[in-house]
Amino acid sequence: MPESLADYLSRTLDAVRDATGGEVFDVPRALATADPELLAAAVCSVEGEVHTAGDADHEFTIQSVSKSFVYALALEQHGVDKVLEHVDVEPSGEAYNVISVEPESNRPRNPMINAGALTTHALVNGPGADAEERLETILECFSVMAGHQLHVDEEAARDELAQADRNRAIAYMLRAEGVMPDQAEDVVRGYTRQCSILVSARDLAVMAATLANGGVQPVTGERVHSLESARQTLSVMTTCGMYDSAGDWMSEVGIPAKSGVAGSIMGALPGRAGLAAYSPRLDRHGASVRGQLAFEHLSDELGLHLLDDP
Ligand code: GLN
Repeated sequence: MPESLADYLSRTLDAVRDATGGEVFDVPRALATADPELLAAAVCSVEGEVHTAGDADHEFTIQSVSKSFVYALALEQHGVDKVLEHVDVEPSGEAYNVISVEPESNRPRNPMINAGALTTHALVNGPGADAEERLETILECFSVMAGHQLHVDEEAARDELAQADRNRAIAYMLRAEGVMPDQAEDVVRGYTRQCSILVSARDLAVMAATLANGGVQPVTGERVHSLESARQTLSVMTTCGMYDSAGDWMSEVGIPAKSGVAGSIMGALPGRAGLAAYSPRLDRHGASVRGQLAFEHLSDELGLHLLDDP
């Protein structure tokens, strides 16, 4: 009998389990105290079939993986051109928390670094929108993508917010430059809560599959994004999703992806599948060490590199 995909994923996790390099992230406390041995992988095909291995139902905060999904939501609400007026799409080649703006327009360089993600967050529901309702809109959209109601880990959000000086500095700078019209404090709080939405590797694979499937949630069949919004999001994930290791990632793994400091990596392979890996120890770019190895294995063995000759 041929090996099932779930068994294959299990074997992939076994192959990367011994990689114990990297460190868990230290803010908020929920990340600092995460069990570093947790390890999961999940795949959701564009036909809506989900396969998982390891701790695939363990919940963690979505962190920067949320940036891709909120970018898709802002595109859906305002269109590509309008969003481009506020946030550029050039790789910054810098760490995620660097204040990186395009010098002529003062736009953040891309929506995957914090400067761009704070601005994208503020675009949801339009300038001057109610901060609480904005988060509700984001949570609702993520829940539709995951196929069930998601929740914010409010304690993690509070904890991170108490130590969010750097994001505050970025938001105030953007506001001073006239890039971000909303109150900086509201935006930082909303963005931090957005990063604190709880998901599992299974959820991320299904959410990624929505992008891979041209914006249609593959399990429920619900259209969440237009093809154009999904394509634009995947493009930016391809060039900027892994921050200052995006070039290495694209040449080695070749899957549009986004990392988050809780230890998850979400990847979307257009027309094929959504993928997710999770393990809390991170490299210096803030990406899961074992998660990256799991993606490398999958890409190599299953021939998933976007630019492979089919
Ligand atoms: N909440 C974190 C921050 O804004 C997310 C960072 C990340 O996952 N790269 O700093």
